[in-house]
Amino acid sequence: SLGVYEAFREELVKRGLPYKLELVQEEENAGTALNISGCHGFCQMGPLVRFEPEGVLYLKVKKEDVPEIVEEHIVHKRPVERLLYHHPVTGQVVAREEDIPFYQNQVRVALELCGLVNPEDINDYLAHGGYQALEKALFEMTPEDVIKEVMDSGLRGRGGAGFPTGRKWAFARSAAGDKKYVICNGDEGDPGAFMDRSVMEGAPHRVLEGMMIAGYAIGADEGYIYVRAEYPLAVKRLKKAVADAEALGFLGDNILGSGFAFRIHIKEGAGAFVCGEETALIASIEGQRGMPRPRPPFPAQSGLWGCPTIINNVETLANVAPIISRGAGWFKQYGTPKSPGTKTFALAGQVAHTGLVEVPMGITLREVVFSIGGGLREGKKFKAVQIGGPSGGCLTEEHLDLPLDFDSLQQAGAMIGSGGMVVIGQDSCMVEVAKFFMTFVQNESCGKCVPCREGTRRMLELLTKITRGKATEDDLHLLEELALVVKDGALCGLGKTAPNPVLTTLRYFRDEYEAHVREKK
Ligand code: SF4
Repeated sequence: SLGVYEAFREELVKRGLPYKLELVQEEENAGTALNISGCHGFCQMGPLVRFEPEGVLYLKVKKEDVPEIVEEHIVHKRPVERLLYHHPVTGQVVAREEDIPFYQNQVRVALELCGLVNPEDINDYLAHGGYQALEKALFEMTPEDVIKEVMDSGLRGRGGAGFPTGRKWAFARSAAGDKKYVICNGDEGDPGAFMDRSVMEGAPHRVLEGMMIAGYAIGADEGYIYVRAEYPLAVKRLKKAVADAEALGFLGDNILGSGFAFRIHIKEGAGAFVCGEETALIASIEGQRGMPRPRPPFPAQSGLWGCPTIINNVETLANVAPIISRGAGWFKQYGTPKSPGTKTFALAGQVAHTGLVEVPMGITLREVVFSIGGGLREGKKFKAVQIGGPSGGCLTEEHLDLPLDFDSLQQAGAMIGSGGMVVIGQDSCMVEVAKFFMTFVQNESCGKCVPCREGTRRMLELLTKITRGKATEDDLHLLEELALVVKDGALCGLGKTAPNPVLTTLRYFRDEYEAHVREKK
């Protein structure tokens, strides 16, 4: 897409049209301001080009389209219809991004600046209200006020477990010790999930601001962002954001003259899925092999180098600044009483519109898959979604009207996890789906504890036996029994949740397992 950006720059120069390489907010007749942005979420339709202030969105733009867009849209003020969204059923042409069905039912909080600000320009972030929440926290609120506001908002961790963020902060604040840390968990490893990547690439300052507010709240002066090395653009933009924030006094020894000191380091992870687990992540930052350890003690009491530490996921931290700026009451207008706010989901699989969506908690699966996602491709019938990646579980047609929130999903045997959502059509074999995720977790098991190390291997063997038509009914019972043993006996979240895809497919699609058994060769 940067090729498209370059093509616009060259075309504007060639035609002698006035343009600037940054946002022009006040100047009239300043010409065209050309800006890069983070992801708009409609991945399948990229590269995207949005025109402000009218919000016209061009889809699948190629370099060759640029001269026509400049001629028609910029010179003659006429939209280029063929590059706008065409409704697949009605054929209606939609020009504005906000009117495209993919965006209509979304509510953007964590992603609100992605696709809007230039992630490499701190001034653009400031122009959109950036760092105002930090200023408010530092100059108008005590650390206890900040924790209370976050607690009142009901914000729960968006990385999977859904633990109340304010409570985690309160534990760390009251823990004894002069030295405390804030860690941002950007080690997103679920197959098909890219929410955190999008936030780090699209609005890195929002993540830094959330960390600084968290640091002020718990009494920490240092933070780490643990980010996958496989996300080089996120790493680059985070590093630039840290340097720019330091240069303008938003990070350092005396932030904005408040007396509050905070430093942020970027730590690149080497791609082990288990390092998303809090204690393994801490071990990795400390330079040890990334392996979980038993809890308690919890990191809030004894974390990085034995100091009280809070670990929050990227999306969780991206919600902090708007909560402080606009208040807990504003945040709670979205979502459900027990799961307030919004959640991002990476919509993938056989859905018509793949991409990144942010919706209020409690929205139904039907709305996400059919209203936002546009249903299944090629008129296929919906069969299931695998939600929450390898730790999650599958939901079926009977769950289409289930509200998507932490507790409802748990009752259905699944979990939001970090928000991966793979839509599965009528032709897919659910045993193969379960095998795919079991292969992933088996590979990623760190091997520290027997239930996970041996259990996932045996489960994978059984699944392979079943899909090859070599299993008996007894093997199905053994698979189920083993799944429960791994769930109960594994040391960390990876192992405890690894059987979920098997257990939920056995629960909702047992007939498919039995069909494989009947095919026994
Ligand atoms: Fe390692 Fe799996 Fe045990 Fe977690 S459950 S400590 S990943 S072997």
